[in-house]
Amino acid sequence: MEFELIKRYFSDIGHCRDDVVLGVGDDAAILSPPPAHELVVSTDTLVSGVHFFPDVYPYSLGHKVLAVNLSDLAAMAARPAWVTLALTLPSADEQWLSQFGRGFSALARQHGVRLVGGDTTCGPLAITVQAMGFVAQGEGWRRSGAKVGDLIYVTGSLGDAGLALKAKQQPLALPKNELDELSLRLTQPTPRVQEAQALNGLVSAAIDLSDGLASDLGHLLQASGVGAVIEWDALPLSHAFRACQQHPAAQSLSAACWQALPLSAGDDYELCFTINPEHQHEMKRRLSQQGFIAHHIGVIDDDIGLRCKQKNGVLFDVTQSGYQHFTN
Ligand code: ADP
Ligand code: MG
Repeated sequence: MEFELIKRYFSDIGHCRDDVVLGVGDDAAILSPPPAHELVVSTDTLVSGVHFFPDVYPYSLGHKVLAVNLSDLAAMAARPAWVTLALTLPSADEQWLSQFGRGFSALARQHGVRLVGGDTTCGPLAITVQAMGFVAQGEGWRRSGAKVGDLIYVTGSLGDAGLALKAKQQPLALPKNELDELSLRLTQPTPRVQEAQALNGLVSAAIDLSDGLASDLGHLLQASGVGAVIEWDALPLSHAFRACQQHPAAQSLSAACWQALPLSAGDDYELCFTINPEHQHEMKRRLSQQGFIAHHIGVIDDDIGLRCKQKNGVLFDVTQSGYQHFTN
């Protein structure tokens, strides 16, 4: 695609960093990782009609494609630094490029991240970002570190994006302000990068929630060779979610659907992590010091699989419920 366009819209995106020896414009970028650190690398693609509605605001899309990648780095406890961007576009719409770039750059600057290269091709709209960050040697979190007796936590709230998606798929007469708030959670999710940094050294295992709590926590449990019980009543719901749930229009969704949203709806991009109970106090201290919130939702045990305890104390099995691309 025209070099002029690349130069105009992608040569100055994000925060200027001293460790970028050479950024956008050559055949490749030259980058200088800090000594005694490990490089953490992750890639995620968003495809039009699969991961976002074709009519989504390009500003939101620029934000989201970066956010989902930063969320993966957060789940590894990495400090984000550099990203590359592969854009496949049906046409070179300058208005679109400019808005997309603004959304991308705003979030990148917020996290001190620089766009250092990419690729631009013509075809059906799809966007791939590769994100790179650092952890001090041996300090990266993994899915595989959870131990029996560890406590399970999630940041933020669950099911907001899922409810917003439902409201886009079928007409629900839910209150407008709340729905706007939920929609923002779907279109411009917040990667929990700072929360992860605050928890450095305390976490035994972590994953970010992209496909739904049940599915993603399930991956963590499987990787760790353990099971868990979570409490239905402990799952954090936002004010907006609760307000919708209590609204008369809530009845157009089944009780089962309301129950499934926080457990199995995707796109939350919250962090789910486990900690040894002895770190709980320090964890709370560090989070509250920075105004962050995490909720205790369950405990790791040695009974393989994931169970959820309902109000009445009855356990139901929620192993493996979540969004899966090749089955749903
Ligand atoms: P080449 O043909 O050598 O691969 P390109 O013409 O694809 O080079 O890209 C030229 C320069 O522009 C490279 O530095 C590349 O990283 C950068 N670039 C291309 N597309 C993008 C994009 N969407 N975002 C950021 N940088 C890009
Ligand atoms: Mg080249």
